[in-house]
Amino acid sequence: MQQEKMDIKSMNLAELKAYMEGLGEKGFRAKQIYEWLHKKQVSSFEEMSNISKSLIEKLKEDCYLVDLKKEAVQVSKIDGTRKYLFLLSDGNVIESVLMKYKHGNSVCISSQVGCRMGCRFCASTLDGLVRGLTPSEMIDQIYQIGKDVGERISNVVVMGTGEPMDNFDNLLKFIELLTDENGLNISQRNLTVSTCGIVPKIRELAEHKLQITLALSLHASTQEKRLELMPVANKYEIHEVIEACRYYFEQTKRRVSFEYSLVAGVNDTKEDVEQLTRLIRGMNCHVNLIPVNPIKERTYVQPDMEAIHNFKDKLEKNGINVTVRREMGRDIDGACGQLRRKYAQRS
Ligand code: SAH
Repeated sequence: MQQEKMDIKSMNLAELKAYMEGLGEKGFRAKQIYEWLHKKQVSSFEEMSNISKSLIEKLKEDCYLVDLKKEAVQVSKIDGTRKYLFLLSDGNVIESVLMKYKHGNSVCISSQVGCRMGCRFCASTLDGLVRGLTPSEMIDQIYQIGKDVGERISNVVVMGTGEPMDNFDNLLKFIELLTDENGLNISQRNLTVSTCGIVPKIRELAEHKLQITLALSLHASTQEKRLELMPVANKYEIHEVIEACRYYFEQTKRRVSFEYSLVAGVNDTKEDVEQLTRLIRGMNCHVNLIPVNPIKERTYVQPDMEAIHNFKDKLEKNGINVTVRREMGRDIDGACGQLRRKYAQRS
């Protein structure tokens, strides 16, 4: 029986070392190969020029090399945001986004093909979950984009398609690879993971005591309203989610971000400001207000700018840290899952 090939780009240095030692190779080979994969980011084994032909043959026999194919790129004329569609080796496609800020380049990656969380306003979940991405498929989105623009990527947000906490082990491995000094060496502080609120996983992540930022997709000020927008609230009640965020702060001392997509007439009222204040007051946190990005499958609409700023001002008066997130890539299907969906429907 033929053995399944190993995903070499998902191996950490210790795993590569063990693999090399098993082959009777010297330990330092592992570091050389790791650097080819994660520093120089080669797209084939043949490019590893200080590795012998025979070892390269062996690597090819035992392993496969994830190398995402750029299927399409859309560039925003408004702000230079670039939205990528990548083809995976099994024929699935995923999206990633590059946002250029004054302080550096930020990449937003997908963590799954599709999503099973069912948030009502989100395009990524309309066709359900196909599968979780491997650590290598997550990290390669960043490598490919860095190579495409020829610039360093300094920030990463796991806020694309998928629920990262629903692909937890691969997420942890991805974080390990991304922050490894022998690879891209991105600081944990420059990484944000966004979740719809899977309570046990938030707690588990907290216990790893990493320095990454947790973003919690709150989107509502009460359990009742959250249930209307996010089916995950059936499983984890809003106060339980907030409690898990407090725990995350206690364990890591990292300020939690609350994402709040404003939907006209649904979660943008005066009562919402007061209820939201009561819910999170006293926490070391930050609220990000995002005007909901309308998707054609749903009828949700954005409040007007005045209503958005009104909401912000009132929260601020209540002593809550809050910003209105600048919309990026509005002209290029910026919302989660829109580009992939368009692509899938075309074919
Ligand atoms: N599953 C994770 C990460 C992916 S979604 C999570 O739920 O956090 C990334 C963010 O985009 C989440 O805050 C999500 O609620 C938000 N989002 C999805 N679709 C949106 C839309 N149409 N308009 C505004 N925000 C949206």
